[in-house]
Amino acid sequence: MKVCKLAGCGFPVSGFSGYCEPHKRRNRRHGHPEQTPVGAHELEPFRKRARARIKKNRDNPTWNILCARWEALIEIAKAEETRYLTGAPHNRFAAEAWFEVVKIGANSSSMEVIEVALAVYLLQVENPRRFKSDNAFGAQLARRVRTLAPTSVGSYYDHETRKAKSVYRDARPKTTVILARILQDTFGVAGLTVAHLERHEMNKLRNEKQTLHDALGELV
Ligand SMILES: [Zn+2]
Repeated sequence: MKVCKLAGCGFPVSGFSGYCEPHKRRNRRHGHPEQTPVGAHELEPFRKRARARIKKNRDNPTWNILCARWEALIEIAKAEETRYLTGAPHNRFAAEAWFEVVKIGANSSSMEVIEVALAVYLLQVENPRRFKSDNAFGAQLARRVRTLAPTSVGSYYDHETRKAKSVYRDARPKTTVILARILQDTFGVAGLTVAHLERHEMNKLRNEKQTLHDALGELV
């Protein structure tokens, strides 16, 4: 019996995959067999900081540029959508990624998208180990931005609970990779710059606290 190739796992592999069922699923969903999802709750403090950073630099052109870039992207996505719908040959995964961009654009403001993207970069710079690989980072970035639009693909009536239930479908891994690349191309440089600036200021604040602490200790 072949076992999961992830060190220390030991579960039998699933089908032709090198991984066991849970690790295979996690790899498909989150871009790495050991990547756990970044939840809205976990991201919230980073969103708050991104918001504060934007507010503090309200007159800085960065945000307008990012907004313009995102809005231009939505226009491209709409054009791509029209092209696919008229039957032009296309890559299924690229098409799905552009559809996602259209959907996100229709359901959220540009500033919301920028805020979430910046927050994911802040989290990465602050806690690089939270992401198991570049691919896993991209998957989480795409996932957080995706959830700004309704992600259910339909609903049905559950007779037992007498409630309407939503059906969710995860994006296909290749679609996620393309969407992640689109988002990284759009927000990457700004995201990293803001994130490093944040870290620099946090360190400065920490050092100042320490200096104060040391100085207080020397008071006689
Ligand atoms: Zn495993």
